Amino acid sequence: MATFGTLSDRLAETFKNLRKKGTLSASDIDGTVREIRRALIDADVAFDVVKEFTSRIRERALGDEVSKALNPAQQVVQIVNDELISILGGEQRRLEFAKTPPTVIMLAGLQGAGKTTLAGKLAQWLAKDGHTPLLVACDLQRPNAVTQLSVVAEQAGASIFAPEPGNGVGDPVRVAKDSIKHARDKQYDTVIIDTAGRLGVDAELMKQAANIRKAVDPDEVLFVIDAMIGQDAVATAKAFQDGVDFTGVVLSKLDGDARGGAALSVASVTGRPIMFASTGEGLGDFEPFHPDRMASRILD
Ligand code: GDP
Repeated sequence: MATFGTLSDRLAETFKNLRKKGTLSASDIDGTVREIRRALIDADVAFDVVKEFTSRIRERALGDEVSKALNPAQQVVQIVNDELISILGGEQRRLEFAKTPPTVIMLAGLQGAGKTTLAGKLAQWLAKDGHTPLLVACDLQRPNAVTQLSVVAEQAGASIFAPEPGNGVGDPVRVAKDSIKHARDKQYDTVIIDTAGRLGVDAELMKQAANIRKAVDPDEVLFVIDAMIGQDAVATAKAFQDGVDFTGVVLSKLDGDARGGAALSVASVTGRPIMFASTGEGLGDFEPFHPDRMASRILD
């Protein structure tokens, strides 16, 4: 995974130097914590997250668990690993399915974040697991969006629900509501609602997304965020949290050469778990997110 490459290398260097030492003095630990702090800031991790993360590491590293350890350096690495898992959300969080189908999953995020692609990825992933997903086109803002979703649906072998031209076009709330009835009638067990996004956070579209949310009461609202957006990640995530109160995060474009800051900040600043990671344009480039595995990749 290209993302985190530099951060990973920097942390590896820090730990290599630390391992050369036997016992660790308080100043060794301070020096290490400083290097970790710089590496995270350079990786675009939000400042508040860096501050909290490094102060937790420092506090634990100065305590008994390191001074009494047979291998103090290894113990520090273990602490960093634990704390990384913690800022990435702790336990893996799986999708919540409705007790009575259909399960409704709504996607929200900026334009270009990867929502439409994600709709296809999720559909394919769910279908493999025996589900019958229905993709719903509620991005009626971009002329091309419905066509794009049809292409993705076909690739995923899933059905699509979209407004007939001239029939309800322009009213995504209505389309979303109708899609649930359609899913019930035709026995689709999962409804995946693609919504419109702008390049920047936009009050009107946020209201539209909030209205869709209110109308269909989804089981999950997934906020899709492009890992490449770096420093803007926190403000964007907070705006969507206020606007649509998402239940989980999907990180997209983790295959790019982003510095990883978005990934490391978003769960922590919103308190919402990262549930999936997208790692390419293909529908198979997608996986459930495991905080512990991601931490290991970063510290590899
Ligand atoms: P939307 O506007 O949020 O619906 O975003 P799209 O799904 O249309 O994605 C925008 C662009 O990003 C498209 O060219 C996708 O092929 C691409 N894309 C989406 N997810 C990923 C990913 O995980 N990795 C890469 N490299 N590209 C992606």
